[in-house]
Amino acid sequence: MPIAANTKEQIGTGTRTVGTRTVGTRSVHGRLNGRIPHPNHSLTTPIVQTATYTFRNTADLCDFMEAKIFGGNGDRGEYGRYGNPTVRAVEKRIAALENGEDALLFPTGMSAITNVLLSILPAGSHVIFTDDCYRKTRQFCNTFLTRLGIETSQVPLGDYEAMATAVQPNTRLIISESPTNPYLRVADLEKITAIARSQRRIKTIIDATFATPINQNPLDFGIDLVIHSATKYLGGHNDVMGGVVVGAAGLLHALRQSQGMLGGVIDPHAAYLVERGLKTLALRVRQQNASAQAVAEFLETHPRIERVWYPGLDSHPDHETAVSQMRGFGGVVSFEVAPAPGESPLETAGRFIDAMTIPLIAPSLGGVESLIEQPALMSFYELSTEERLAIGIKNNLVRFAIGIEETADILADLEQALS
Ligand SMILES: *Cc1c(COP(=O)(O)O)cnc(C)c1O
Repeated sequence: MPIAANTKEQIGTGTRTVGTRTVGTRSVHGRLNGRIPHPNHSLTTPIVQTATYTFRNTADLCDFMEAKIFGGNGDRGEYGRYGNPTVRAVEKRIAALENGEDALLFPTGMSAITNVLLSILPAGSHVIFTDDCYRKTRQFCNTFLTRLGIETSQVPLGDYEAMATAVQPNTRLIISESPTNPYLRVADLEKITAIARSQRRIKTIIDATFATPINQNPLDFGIDLVIHSATKYLGGHNDVMGGVVVGAAGLLHALRQSQGMLGGVIDPHAAYLVERGLKTLALRVRQQNASAQAVAEFLETHPRIERVWYPGLDSHPDHETAVSQMRGFGGVVSFEVAPAPGESPLETAGRFIDAMTIPLIAPSLGGVESLIEQPALMSFYELSTEERLAIGIKNNLVRFAIGIEETADILADLEQALS
């Protein structure tokens, strides 16, 4: 009977993957055939809550060690810092979404970024990063990396001549976000890849947190590693922190070895929550894309709004690049509120935010709840207005990270808050 034969084959090859599937289906099932049973026939990935793994006897241990030395040791566990089956299942699912060979989870997005930079960059090397990037990434480059004797160059996003000119004989890495925070600038991935390939040893990394694998797959454009803060869209519910790196198996194997030394591993329960979020990723992101586009178009024609930043608008400086390499433009819209007469830009923006009723005032983005913030007060509070302007953060700038509420309700809320 063909069904029985099929079932047997699937059970026999636990990692058998299936071919053509769109990203929406992959977000539910990954690359795996969902009929391969988990232990106890559990539909969901079991949370293997253990710090270590046992061996039946000394021969079992020796077999494992032999296999480990000569490569494939299957997927059995040795010790929690070197791997966990729940975490492994989620890694495979994210690799499938990003068209990558493998993925590696971390306890936070910053942990993923710092582990990768520390692992890839030798002393005396040089890294190029683009401006308008996540503030802690920039701080890590300028403090830790500098202290380790690693040179850094910051180039404006969108200036590929400056990027090419910044390349030195010791350059090992080009890292950028796309889209960026808070201006949603979109890096031209093919141009970055071309610059990196001008020299043999330059790796490229894109922090694609704002795009999600639903809207963009940087590996398809020749980028070496993609990073996400899984705290944002992948987890998607503002209830778990995580980070992930995706790329070729060889590079990921080396990063896994470093992770075993640096020690930053995600808890299996947190990994489970990321996987639970992934199952609805495509649905959530499509809703967020649609709402953000509607919000951006509404704000662009509103008299109380000076400027809107959203890659889905013709007016955005990177609109064409975004159209050529993204399937959707994401759920974050940034905009500048026109100061009311007799009020400072900081005050008017604050009053507008206070008048909104749906979005919560909080840092972060990518969850089911809409969140809103004034970057001048949230991430750059300690700077003066002049210092903020020097790095391009205006006092009347608002970042609106749209959730999955009804689009019409969000538009109505904006309408009432602006009047
Ligand atoms: C949030 C974020 C990070 C950091 O991730 P954590 O999970 O908070 O450590 C890195 N990059 C981008 C673009 C982010 O939005």
